[in-house]
Amino acid sequence: IRNLSRVYKDFIALDRLSLDVRRGEKVVVLGPSGSGKSTLIRCLNRIEPHDSGSLHINGQAITAKTDLTRLRALVGLVFQNYNLFPHLSVLDNCTLAPRLVRRMPRAQAEALAMRFLQQVNIAGQARKYPIQLSGGQQQRVAIARALCMQPEIMLFDEPTAALDPEAVSGVATIMNTLAVQGITTLCVTHEMRFARHIADRIVFMDQGRIMEITPPEQFFTNPQTTRARDFLNQMI
Ligand code: ATP
Ligand code: MG
Repeated sequence: IRNLSRVYKDFIALDRLSLDVRRGEKVVVLGPSGSGKSTLIRCLNRIEPHDSGSLHINGQAITAKTDLTRLRALVGLVFQNYNLFPHLSVLDNCTLAPRLVRRMPRAQAEALAMRFLQQVNIAGQARKYPIQLSGGQQQRVAIARALCMQPEIMLFDEPTAALDPEAVSGVATIMNTLAVQGITTLCVTHEMRFARHIADRIVFMDQGRIMEITPPEQFFTNPQTTRARDFLNQMI
């Protein structure tokens, strides 16, 4: 990410932001509300275009000409509000994209989906519909669904924000498992314990800029900027 900017009329949501993420790395993005965290995540799989600067994934520039279907097969995204397809069963939610995009035969797609549903501890609910599941269960399905595309990169935007504390720890456990599997991960979260646990580096944003990039131990014990210190003080 090089000098990336995103501007809404006269408001600068991302201000010449630069960041390198290595393959397999876990980056947790923290920052106050409105600091541009979601905008950054959305630019990374081009739900939003950037206005200037550049973005490369695996050496390929992400531009207006990028094949979005291919990009989104490479880069999975899980939001706060899981966005499952309500008219499809859990299993069909997971197999739809692999069948349509990867042209995977149904049996193979279902076997793959069951593997990831097992991994998020929800294989027993495969025939149910989203409305029949709790919030935490739906979020785990959303993670399994994203994994079914076998992305190289996973983006999470506050995946636990809509969950109760017990469900949060379930989803956090799943994300720790993913971290171990070596999928490159960028995660926006307000869960400090979780951030501390999985992050290789913490990226702290404010007003569309990166204020500091530090290992979690250092960020939580000795942040470099006053802005980050204030942010952490408000958290406790
Ligand atoms: P939160 O922690 O509350 O989710 P965030 O860091 O994710 O905040 P963003 O959603 O990236 O913040 O928004 C960054 C800024 O850009 C905010 O001030 C927001 O109001 C503004 N913004 C976002 N989307 C738009 C839009 N479509 N039009 C105008 N302004 C927008
Ligand atoms: Mg946000």
